[in-house]
Amino acid sequence: MDDALKKKLIEAMTGAIVSHTDELTALDQAIGDGDHGLNMKRGFEAVLADMGPISAKPLPDALQAIGTTLVMKVGGASGPLYGTLFMALGKELPPEPTVTDLARALAAAIEAVKARGKSDLGQKTMLDVLAPLQVALAHGGTDLTKRLPEVVKDAAEATVPLRAIRGRASFLGERSVGHMDPGARSSALLATAICNTIGA
Ligand code: ADP
Ligand code: MG
Repeated sequence: MDDALKKKLIEAMTGAIVSHTDELTALDQAIGDGDHGLNMKRGFEAVLADMGPISAKPLPDALQAIGTTLVMKVGGASGPLYGTLFMALGKELPPEPTVTDLARALAAAIEAVKARGKSDLGQKTMLDVLAPLQVALAHGGTDLTKRLPEVVKDAAEATVPLRAIRGRASFLGERSVGHMDPGARSSALLATAICNTIGA
């Protein structure tokens, strides 16, 4: 994990969010308040602005720094939740993680998000992408960087028929059915950006 790879990962995550801001906005307009695209763009642009010092840190500290920035800059419900996710990954991961380390750390980070959000799987949130991603990582095997983007794409699509139980979308009750969850989509975008960078 050299500084150059950490920089590429930050650029890739920011690029994925910035190039899909309008889509995330539209998804959140359908079942929320329409701010998820701009929230995430603001957060990752702040991470990008700090890319030099962040990527000079060892991976655990870099992840903690990203988490802190996201908590401060994203706002909404998703800011503290993405912040918790990245900070927990920073706490759990060694500087040079294996796939096994990643699976274990993501499991712990998902528990931290659940605790922070008082949420669980099947409630139409980012957890419905993060959990299948963790299962696939734990299962391991070859071509993970090719297969995981498919896993998260399918998982985000699988939030369409769900009824939201947490977050703003839950205020809509049955009317939240038939739309993809914005946080599920942003999680899929981030995971795909990471896979494409590592697999490149
Ligand atoms: P807000 O809902 O405050 O406007 P955002 O629009 O930025 O915040 O983020 C909404 C996303 O946050 C949802 O699509 C969902 O994935 C995620 N989310 C909201 N509440 C929770 C929760 N309690 N647990 C997990 N994820 C949540
Ligand atoms: Mg919103």
